[in-house]
Amino acid sequence: MSNKTNDKSVSFQPSWAIILGLSSPQETEWGEVRAAQIKAVRDVALSRMVFSILGAIVVFASLRADMPYALLLGWFICFTLVTAVQGVFQLRRKNETFATASRFQLLNETSSLILSALCWAALPFAFSSGATPNQMLIIWTVMTAFMGMATFALSPLPLAASGFIFIMGGSLGYMMWQLNLLYLSAAALAYSGALTAACLATGRSFVCHTYASRSLREKNEVVSLLLREYEDSGGDWMWQTDASRCLTHVSPRMAIALGVEPTALEAKPFLQILAGETWEAGNFGAGLRELADRLKNRESFSDLVLPVQIGNETRWWELSASPRIDETGSYLGFRGVGSDITEQQKSADKINRMARFDTLTGLPNRLSVTEALATAMAEADRWRSRCGFMMIDLDRFKAVNDTLGHPIGDRLLTLVSQRLRSIMTDNEMCGRLGGDEFAVVVKDASDPSKMERVARKIIETLSAPYEVEQNTLYIGASVGTAVGPRDGRSVEMLIRSADLALYRSKDSGGSAFNAYEPQLHVHAEERRVLEIALRKALERKEFEVHYQPVVNAKTGVIESFEALLRWNNKELGMVSPMKFIPIAEETRLIGSIGEWVLRTACAEAAGWPSHIKVAVNVSAEQLHDASFVATIVSALAHAGLPPHRLELEVTESVFMKEGTGAVAVLERILALGVKLALDDFGTGYSSLGYLSKTKFSTIKIDRSFVQGASRKLPESIAIIRAVVALADSLGMMTTAEGVETDEECRMINDLGCRKIQGYLFGRPMPAHEARQLFNSETGAAQVA
Ligand code: C2E
Ligand code: CA
Ligand code: CA
Repeated sequence: MSNKTNDKSVSFQPSWAIILGLSSPQETEWGEVRAAQIKAVRDVALSRMVFSILGAIVVFASLRADMPYALLLGWFICFTLVTAVQGVFQLRRKNETFATASRFQLLNETSSLILSALCWAALPFAFSSGATPNQMLIIWTVMTAFMGMATFALSPLPLAASGFIFIMGGSLGYMMWQLNLLYLSAAALAYSGALTAACLATGRSFVCHTYASRSLREKNEVVSLLLREYEDSGGDWMWQTDASRCLTHVSPRMAIALGVEPTALEAKPFLQILAGETWEAGNFGAGLRELADRLKNRESFSDLVLPVQIGNETRWWELSASPRIDETGSYLGFRGVGSDITEQQKSADKINRMARFDTLTGLPNRLSVTEALATAMAEADRWRSRCGFMMIDLDRFKAVNDTLGHPIGDRLLTLVSQRLRSIMTDNEMCGRLGGDEFAVVVKDASDPSKMERVARKIIETLSAPYEVEQNTLYIGASVGTAVGPRDGRSVEMLIRSADLALYRSKDSGGSAFNAYEPQLHVHAEERRVLEIALRKALERKEFEVHYQPVVNAKTGVIESFEALLRWNNKELGMVSPMKFIPIAEETRLIGSIGEWVLRTACAEAAGWPSHIKVAVNVSAEQLHDASFVATIVSALAHAGLPPHRLELEVTESVFMKEGTGAVAVLERILALGVKLALDDFGTGYSSLGYLSKTKFSTIKIDRSFVQGASRKLPESIAIIRAVVALADSLGMMTTAEGVETDEECRMINDLGCRKIQGYLFGRPMPAHEARQLFNSETGAAQVA
């Protein structure tokens, strides 16, 4: 049943034609009302029949002496027959339950009642002429009594009742008129008019009442149907309390949710059930307290979430309810719905945690850290104090991750987090920003020395060796700090300031702490300018390749040149490759710049004597480009340089990114016949493993070891010895880099290095200067 019909039932006012059964209302199922009308009349059929026959007997008995007997008997038999047939018929049908009746049935019923009225009405017509005043009084009395009775017994069928009364009244009126008793005639008509009005009013109210109660019942049925459906679907249930907040009509579903029998809950205080153990202690949670308040104040509430103690477990319930008020306005209690939302709550909790905490280390993530910083800044602003922010970056973490693999790297990060957390006080909060970057929010940093103390403690704590799966790992930590609002008025600005300070700490070699200073912004700005200029350097032809000789350690004869890039910018002047190469790598400009160096160096080397090689530096980023091998082939072909005269210098960092395919690219380069040199050996996270995996022609020992050896540092000497021995056994050459003095040269020779590169034999020089070195008489160039 639709709401539309329900709403209609409230406003529906049946017309008289409908009430009398002369027309049917549209849309509404009026049949049930008709059935109720008919049933109400039939309910009194038996007494009506008995009284009618008794009335007829009285009339028969009193008229018998004076009236023509046959006529009277005929009337009596007719009347009794009609009444009895009608009565029996109605009685038989009385207990028949029928839900609806048609208009035809209604009119049928009406006409049968009219028929019995006609039987009575025949009396005055047939017998009034010869009757004595006594007898007429009896007819008058009996008929008016029946008219009165009809007003009540037949009023549910107002047409039948008024027809009945009208016919009876009419015939009585006629009788009196015939006898010239005009007053009595008028009285009979007036009496019947009054009774008709009364029975129409009663009939109308019967019909309306029947219709209203029928719609109400229907509405109730719909409501309970909906409620049942509601309870059946999903895990929700109904609950209801009385005015004293005790449970009534406990639904089985709610009892199941509480793990008890419904009877055990009946008449128990609702709050006590929800509070469980805490009821005795009286220390309710916030949710329960709110519920108690709402119930006390008789206020509706919806989606109130509260913990419910069920056995040893805490479940989360969501309750909605409104107070029940009866028609008289008195308060009956509460009725509402409830559902167990523990599972949703759990997953919402989990999602919330995932959004705010780092899954690997369990530390607050970037989002939480920035939020904490925002809070700290707001507090500092309020109290006119200062808050601090620290950025921490692990030194050499990348090397661990790349050489030992991600699982070990992850373990290491977890250990770092634990250590970091262990040194936090109430004034600090640490979090992980991502990768090997961590941060600390210092709530109160009014004391300037405090930041430094915390930073030094962090460096010291994180730099102690770590034991991870039989590996002893040494990493360091660099820290950059900034103090708000001095170093940044917004969260973003403060983070940027700390980041710049961190950048400086990294730049200075790690394991350092730097506080932000405005100068850093200048550096950052410089870098930005450099980057913009670098993007245009190639097309503006600002690059030049210089060549530094590499000589035979014993003979001093030039064996090759290392191509070293130079950048001469109009505004910036000469920029060191140490400065711009990292920027080129970060901005991916190194691909095109490196290709230009390679082509230029190959073209230049093609003009050199055929035994002189050229070495070109290659960044790890270049090896990750799939087209790099093709570039080499093209450079060699264009220059007409045989592959064996080209040597590419790579550093250990190319092995540090697993799965990037760099090793495979090196294999393809070797397959071309191009040589490989391992540059800056000893400065990375040295692991000798890859020396046996990739066939290098040369190992270049970093300048720091050469210097160390010249200062007689035993580790440096030991390392050079070991590398030379290893290289010899693997059939590789060794080149000592950065030899500046005769002393260093002699010592390198003693240690067994095969080649030397350094200012002692020549600085990096322009191509034409390098070319001149070959013009000596011997043809084999010799320097110094
Ligand atoms: P590197 O490959 O180790 O190059 C050797 C560096 O040592 C050069 O610095 C060279 O000038 C310097 N050097 C040579 N002998 C001595 C010496 O006796 N004493 C001292 N103190 N230094 C010496 P440079 O030219 O400034 O290059 C720095 C770095 O820039 C290079 O280190 C290399 O890693 C990178 N680089 C230079 N050119 C290129 C290039 O074309 N491509 C790539 N990817 N990197 C390049
Ligand atoms: Ca090099
Ligand atoms: Ca080097």
